[in-house]
Amino acid sequence: MSGLGKGITAASIGRLLKNRGYRVTAVKIDPYLNIDAGTMNPAQHGEVFVLSDGGEVDLDLGNYERFLDINLKSIHNITTGKVYRNVIEKERRGDFLGATVQIIPHITDEIKRCIRRAAGEETDGGESADICLVEVGGTVGDIESMPFLEAIRQMHGELPAQDMVLVHVTLVPVDTMGDLKTKPTQHSVKALRELGLHPDIIVGRSEQVIGPQTKKKISAFCDVPPSAVISAQNMPDIYQVPMEMEKEGLAATLCDLLGLENREPDIEWYRIVSREYTSRVTVAIVSKYGIEDVYISIKEALRHAGRALSTEVNIRWLDAEAFDPQQLADMDGILVPGGFGKRGIEGKIQAIRFAREGGKPYLGLCLGFQLAVIEYARNVLGIADATSEEMGEGTHVIAILPEQEGVTELGGTMRLGDCPISLKAGTLMADLYGKTEIVERHRHRYEVNPAYIEALTDAGLIFSGTCGDRMEVCEIPAHPFFLASQFHPEFRSSPTHPSPPYLGFVGACRRNRTISRSG
Ligand code: GLN
Repeated sequence: MSGLGKGITAASIGRLLKNRGYRVTAVKIDPYLNIDAGTMNPAQHGEVFVLSDGGEVDLDLGNYERFLDINLKSIHNITTGKVYRNVIEKERRGDFLGATVQIIPHITDEIKRCIRRAAGEETDGGESADICLVEVGGTVGDIESMPFLEAIRQMHGELPAQDMVLVHVTLVPVDTMGDLKTKPTQHSVKALRELGLHPDIIVGRSEQVIGPQTKKKISAFCDVPPSAVISAQNMPDIYQVPMEMEKEGLAATLCDLLGLENREPDIEWYRIVSREYTSRVTVAIVSKYGIEDVYISIKEALRHAGRALSTEVNIRWLDAEAFDPQQLADMDGILVPGGFGKRGIEGKIQAIRFAREGGKPYLGLCLGFQLAVIEYARNVLGIADATSEEMGEGTHVIAILPEQEGVTELGGTMRLGDCPISLKAGTLMADLYGKTEIVERHRHRYEVNPAYIEALTDAGLIFSGTCGDRMEVCEIPAHPFFLASQFHPEFRSSPTHPSPPYLGFVGACRRNRTISRSG
């Protein structure tokens, strides 16, 4: 079932293997008909994660990149939409001439081709991975996931026995007496067997540790050795899941099944994710969405920076529509994230004004960058009706990107993915990165209107990063920490490589807290 932690389980398995020196990549299968996640409502499906190549994908790919320090591509997110589109395009070209095109074998063949292609793709070192994790989303028994499970079954028969391991992630609930129940696992394993799939490893997701007795029971009913039943109880920090799985002996079982040498693991990751906190800050995120999954990469990037600085970052989510600047009084920093449309923008602009005038650390991302420019235009330059073309009538200090004019299709048509950015030497942003040429990921249709750059600059707003003629970063030198970017640095942050703007922001929040507490 969804929300169980299949993504974190798969990412953690990847980490165990990576810690042993194996090259790992990952594929996420989403059984929906959308081509990609780009047009899906994040309030229903969670964040749209953006890859280097501009792919707008499921948020689980973000977990893979963060856990495994790899750069994935659009082909690593396989959807029913992509699979059917490929097959129908082939049919129209005449590739199947004479044949009746069917789910089996044509769709299942295409699924296997997509998996093999993504698995064989080069990883960062220029070589392809030793191991590819394939996460099949959806629920066993759902109509949508049937062709994918059938393709997996076929692959299992086609590959040498040691080349494929099936891991089943299952819920082990606790009943009202506090006892762990194995019945749902027995039934889901039965449902898998009816499809010709037999799990090699069972990962039990539970509120409690699954002890030896329960493991034995699962083992007996599901035909896996007790050592292949893994307890995965809820953890306060997802980055510690690999450590728990290490203790459960999962790596040894996996290596045994895959015929790999169980090398001594590198424990650097464990050291990083268990660094002690010595201070704490509270950051306000002003957003129109009630759910945190929409900004999962931002939340994680704040945590990565926090761990690196031994600072626990607590997040207070503030509703942009019912916003009162009073709520910001005891915050150590203010963050305005990306977003689309008019709803809630006035509250966000008020929050930015509060940060700018009150000397509170501010980090603006994408829409949070555009709104920082609008706030400056309104309250410093005196253009009272300054706004973005996206929001309707007014003076458009933020305007549509020229290449976006006339774009009518919404899927995959924004300015997306990696773009090179030049940072002005000596500015805050250049100091944080420690260099002047960087690459970061984008997802937007609007930009700072070139007609207002000079006036804004004359009024004291510094554009410290650019991509050609396009403004990418703004900052206010007289402010303790006021920084905003058109790009999304959170998409490249990981525990091992925390993002420089986030490190700067969390550091500034900590300084702000120390000053306001001692003052
Ligand atoms: N809506 C704005 C744009 O399209 C900002 C996008 C974002 O925040 N991701 O330019």
